[in-house]
Amino acid sequence: MALASHNEGKLVEFSGLFAPLGIEILSARELDLPEPEETGETFEANSALKAIAAATASNLPAMADDSGLSVMALGGNPGIYSARWAGPEKDFAAAMRRVEHGLQEAGNTDRSAAFVCVLSLAWPDGHIEQTRGECKGRLLWPPRGDGGFGYDPMFMPLGSTRTFGEIALEEKKNLSHRARAVAAMIAACFS
Ligand code: IMP
Repeated sequence: MALASHNEGKLVEFSGLFAPLGIEILSARELDLPEPEETGETFEANSALKAIAAATASNLPAMADDSGLSVMALGGNPGIYSARWAGPEKDFAAAMRRVEHGLQEAGNTDRSAAFVCVLSLAWPDGHIEQTRGECKGRLLWPPRGDGGFGYDPMFMPLGSTRTFGEIALEEKKNLSHRARAVAAMIAACFS
């Protein structure tokens, strides 16, 4: 199965999640897949357009996710713009500062947030399945831990005392928005 993502962090997580099913994930880099522009205005639209483009280009079933951090006090932002807030140099320290600045400007009363993942699996014949996973939590400042990627060091999932930056990948695999969307996809398509 092809994975329509150039993000190494996602590749590692998806490969681990599908390994127990014996499904091998071929990355966008290995297959030299194009990176379509994310012109959609929802996680669902962006996820679908990436999966369809990859299935068409590779002639394989292709999976794509669109994910991001939705911050309640910021009206759901950065949301679909989570990667874009880090700019072309992928500066997530700056993106996390921007989130923190927004929280302070909003009065710092509500620090709740959720990571959201919409997963699409597209077949070359045009069939598509979509699932959604969410992981709710709170945002901390300053960020803690150097594991994970993106906004992980400032996100503490509900029920934990550690941030995703401090939690081992093995543990994140059971908790994350991506894990939940994958579990729903496995139930829908592979069981
Ligand atoms: P996408 O590649 O368009 O789906 O962008 C997703 C962006 O959301 C990533 O570049 C990260 O900034 C953020 N993001 C998504 N999932 C995670 C996660 O598990 N941890 C930290 N940041 C994430």
